[in-house]
Order: sequence, then C-alpha cells, then structure tokens
Amino acid sequence: MRTLPFFPPDLFEADRDALLKAMFDVGTDPEQRFILGRRTAEFEQEIKKATGAHDVVACGSGTGGLELAVGALDIGPGDEVIVPAFCCQPVASSVINAGATPVFADVDPWTMVIDPDSVESLITERTRAVLPAHLFNIMADMPRINEIARRHDIAVIEDAAVVQGAELDGVPAGRWGTLGVFSFFQVKAFGTAGEGGVVLTDDPELARAVRMLRNHGQDGVNRFLHHRVGRNSRFDEVIAAFQMHRLPTLADRLERRATIADYYTERFAPLAERGVKAPPAGRNGRCFYVYSIQVSRREDLRAYLTEHGIGSHVYYPTPLPLQPAFNAWAPEGADWPNARWASRSNLAIPIWPHLTDADVERIADTICDFFA
Ligand SMILES: *Cc1c(COP(=O)(O)O)cnc(C)c1O
Repeated sequence: MRTLPFFPPDLFEADRDALLKAMFDVGTDPEQRFILGRRTAEFEQEIKKATGAHDVVACGSGTGGLELAVGALDIGPGDEVIVPAFCCQPVASSVINAGATPVFADVDPWTMVIDPDSVESLITERTRAVLPAHLFNIMADMPRINEIARRHDIAVIEDAAVVQGAELDGVPAGRWGTLGVFSFFQVKAFGTAGEGGVVLTDDPELARAVRMLRNHGQDGVNRFLHHRVGRNSRFDEVIAAFQMHRLPTLADRLERRATIADYYTERFAPLAERGVKAPPAGRNGRCFYVYSIQVSRREDLRAYLTEHGIGSHVYYPTPLPLQPAFNAWAPEGADWPNARWASRSNLAIPIWPHLTDADVERIADTICDFFA
C-alpha cells in the first residue's frame, strides 16, 4: 500500500530542470546580480498583471511582507492591530516587532477565519488596522471587514499568504486590503523551493514605503542614504526565475486542488450527523491550500489514518494568545472559545494537486470507514 504523506517530498519533481536552469542562468549571468535584479522586477510585473494590483513589491517572505505592511502604515508603540486568535504566529509577531499591540479577535466556529463581530467589538481609539488572514479552505469575510474598517477609518492588512489565485466576489485575494501579502513558502498555494513573498497595494505612497523598507530604508537610487529605519527583506533572483516558470501552471494546480476539495466535501456531507464538519462547498471565496475538517475524535482519526498509510496534520494546536510568547498580550479573563475549539478539532488531510483520483478516493474511503 502506497503511503500518502501530508508533506510530499516530490512537490517540485516536474519543475526540477527549470530550477536547475534558473540557478545556472542567474549564476552565470554576466550581471552577477543575485537579489532584486531584473528577474525580480519582471516577476513583480507578472503578479501585477495576474492580480490587477497597482503595485507589487517582492520581499523576503510572507512574514517579511506583513512586517513591511505594518511598517509602511507607520504602526508603532501605542497603536493596536486586531489579529485572529487562531492563526500562524506572524500575524502577532509582525505587530509586536513594530512595538505595537496585537489585539486578539475570536474566529468563526465553522470556517475558523477571523469573526467580523469580534473585530468590531475590539475597536478602540488606538486601533490602527485589522489584520485578517485567509486560512485553509476559506477567505476571511473581506466585505464585512472592509466595511467595518471604512466606518472606523482603519487600515486593512490582508494576510493572503496561503491563497494566491483565490477570488471572492470576483476580486482576487490580496486585493481586498489596504495592503495584501502573499507567501511563497514551500507548502503554500504558490509555494517555491525556498523563501519569498510579495506585498500588493494600490496606494503609491505605501508601495514606495514598502520598497524602501525592504532594503534598509534606501530609495533604490542613492546608495547608503537611509530615509527610514528599514530591514533586510529582499527577493532572490533564482526564486524569481523559478516562480515565473511556475506561474503559468498555477491555475491548473489550483483547479486540481479545488476538484479534490469538491469531492471530499461531497463524500463527508453524510458524516455531519457523526460530528464531522467539512468546509462549506462552492468556489466563491474558497481556497484550497489545506483541506481541514473539524472532528471531536481527532486523535483517534489521526491514528487510524496513520495506520492506513495516510498522513494528516494539525495546524495551530494552541491559539495564539495562549502561547507563551504572546501571553503578555492576552488580557486577563479574555477567552477565545472558537479559537480553542478550532485548535482542538481541526485535522488537515492531503490535497496536493499531484494526488491521483485513486489516492483521493482512498483517503475519503478511509475517513468514511473510520466513522462507519
Ligand atoms: C505561512 C504564513 C505566513 C508567513 O509566510 P512565510 O513566507 O512562511 O513567512 C503568514 N500568514 C499565514 C496565514 C501563513 O500561513
């Protein structure tokens, strides 16, 4: 029986020659420019075209992108940013590393993305921004979040790290916020063989700030003239070449993931009466970076899947405010029951585009057998 790992080692198997060629081309290019060169500039143009964003700035990682977005908005000490309590840690650390305060909002119990009602209840006169993140299968409720942000005159930093290529009401992910961020970390929707990210924005002043901040506050013309306190969050030329090679086939990979998700959701619908919650069906505002179900007997199901050669993964087993690192920003007596439930119940199963139909059927069969 073939083992189906959750993190497959052969994600880039089909693109191996392109990666070697990118390394050779950059390595032997007479320019000998390894970061922020013409390939990075071309890649930024490609993402602009694909998303319609007015400006795209490539940077060192998704985390770097969030830090640059926070920096470009001049968020600092005394400012508050509302972030999801159930998410990966950069949504909190990017705020804290700027000297500002993360305020943790609870999430929706089913979709596990930030709950707009919780966001609204946490707004104070110190709130400068809200930082929603799209997770697993679903985009955050951007229409409501943007409406709340407009009403309170605060910025929206859209963490679209995992969902490049997704759309909600015809608007691409990454285009809803004042600034949006994609990550190219290996396992993300547009993952790569290394690190990278981009910041998208329609605001020329913010774009200029992000561009400066990613390279030590310099303007790209006057070397060693530092306009602002920046950081090193630059983009690699080999990764730019490799991602340009992979961009034209991204839509096919996303479509394959969506087809697998459709199939899972249909197969798992009858399990609802046994306490299994599959993500909402459909394609609008959906993304298929990870397929996560919620199940109260998670550890038993996990062990059963392992026994049957199927890998699975638990994302964020501890809500952010309950992490030792962020405890100091968890107000006394506050609670995030839906985030705690998400941490306790979510289980991600394989959804890689190169899974065969037989693999996908076997995964669904095994899960249905467990509950039979
Ligand atoms: C991965 C991820 C990030 C950070 O991206 P990196 O490129 O790994 O730094 C930010 N937000 C979310 C929701 C992520 O999943």
